[in-house]
Amino acid sequence: MKKITVIGAGFAGLTIALKLAQKGFKVHLHEKSERLGGLLGTEYSEYGMAEKAANSLILTDRSEKLFKEIGLDLTYPLESSKKRFIFRGFPKAMPLNPFEILKVAFTVIPRVLFAKASLKPKSGETLQDWGLRRLGKAPTRFLLGPAMQGIYANEAKDLSASLIITPLFKKDREKFRGTISGPNGMQDIVDYLHATLQQLDVEIYLNSDLDITTVEGPVVIATSASAAANILATRAPQLSTLLKRVNMSSLISTTVFFDKAQTKYKGFGCLIPRDLKLRTFGVLMPPYIFAGRDKTYNETWIMGGKNNQDLLNYSDKDLKDLITKERKSLFKRQDTILDAKIFRWDLALPIYDLELESIQNQLAEIKVPGIFLHGNYLSGIGLSKILERSERLSEEIASQHG
Ligand SMILES: Cc1cc2nc3c(=O)[nH]c(=O)nc-3n(C[C@H](O)[C@H](O)[C@H](O)COP(=O)(O)OP(=O)(O)OC[C@H]3O[C@@H](n4cnc5c(N)ncnc54)[C@H](O)[C@@H]3O)c2cc1C
Repeated sequence: MKKITVIGAGFAGLTIALKLAQKGFKVHLHEKSERLGGLLGTEYSEYGMAEKAANSLILTDRSEKLFKEIGLDLTYPLESSKKRFIFRGFPKAMPLNPFEILKVAFTVIPRVLFAKASLKPKSGETLQDWGLRRLGKAPTRFLLGPAMQGIYANEAKDLSASLIITPLFKKDREKFRGTISGPNGMQDIVDYLHATLQQLDVEIYLNSDLDITTVEGPVVIATSASAAANILATRAPQLSTLLKRVNMSSLISTTVFFDKAQTKYKGFGCLIPRDLKLRTFGVLMPPYIFAGRDKTYNETWIMGGKNNQDLLNYSDKDLKDLITKERKSLFKRQDTILDAKIFRWDLALPIYDLELESIQNQLAEIKVPGIFLHGNYLSGIGLSKILERSERLSEEIASQHG
């Protein structure tokens, strides 16, 4: 049986370990911390549950298959979660006015129908510049910017249009069929993956700080870009120098439990455009996303990104005060906070900026025999993209080393 080493046991490491074990590899999975899951996890309290980072995964054929393979029941979202709000004076399902809708329809529909290629971004173009060039000012500010900041946790002016828009033109793109989670939240995915890996005889080492110069056989590095740069410093210095250039940003996810439910706006959540003096990126409404999980009404407030790094130094009290203040502007409500679960992720997410666009192009040119890179800085930040890469990369590895 061919041995392979996987370093990092976040969603990327766990899912590629699964795919490789299924292909007959003897997998050794090394995780630096004392637990599996990386950013994924759920905390349970007397008030209800709080997701540490991701609250769901996009439902695709691949994610459905993954749940089946690990024996986990799919939890489908409520009908109410189909509604999504964007703040413009108040939370609106459609933030554009009729004049703006007509204008964007007249500009975009003919291009979609007759000149799709003209919608493709230029290399080195920011998402904001692409939006202004192709959609106009209001749709960029009130639709594109908030929607993408909800996924990439940074502002349109700091994101690369090529990295974000170009994949949308791919013919083999997976269809978006809603979102899913486990019955007890995202921790279920980690626990069921763990159990399946054990059944497949994957050797798991926690609290491990492996020196890869001592490892024999192929290695998959499934950590953040900065951690990968450190791991590769001696074995592949050129690759390490390139990975060091990946810009990272911090994120704070605060699940706040209230004494009363907000019932005016029922949906997946509300995104907040920039330059409105509000520092929050978006608010998720878990009780309106998945049924039967909540003991108390709660919301998850997401803050951070490149231009809000200072929020990471806020105390728990400062963060709760900020949420109380911004909630008054957003929902015009002042309910009592019963409890708040705050998860601070310091420099945890890659910024999908122009620098990453250039780094990804250069990465394609550097091949180090026996070393494979995996993680959320390579082909998408979301879990469904990471899963897609786990599948493709495991096939590539099997064809070279199987
Ligand atoms: C607040 C927040 C909300 C999000 N919401 C969503 C969402 O709703 N849906 C979605 O699809 N995505 C969401 N994401 C993104 C998604 O959660 C992440 O992109 C994904 O979990 C990253 O997985 P990963 O395995 O690439 O990295 P990580 O989870 O960072 O895992 C890397 C692992 O490598 C380990 N490691 C590091 N160095 C070493 C070393 N030297 N040796 C061994 N191990 C090492 C780390 O300890 C860690 O366990 C969210 C992210 C955040 C922060």
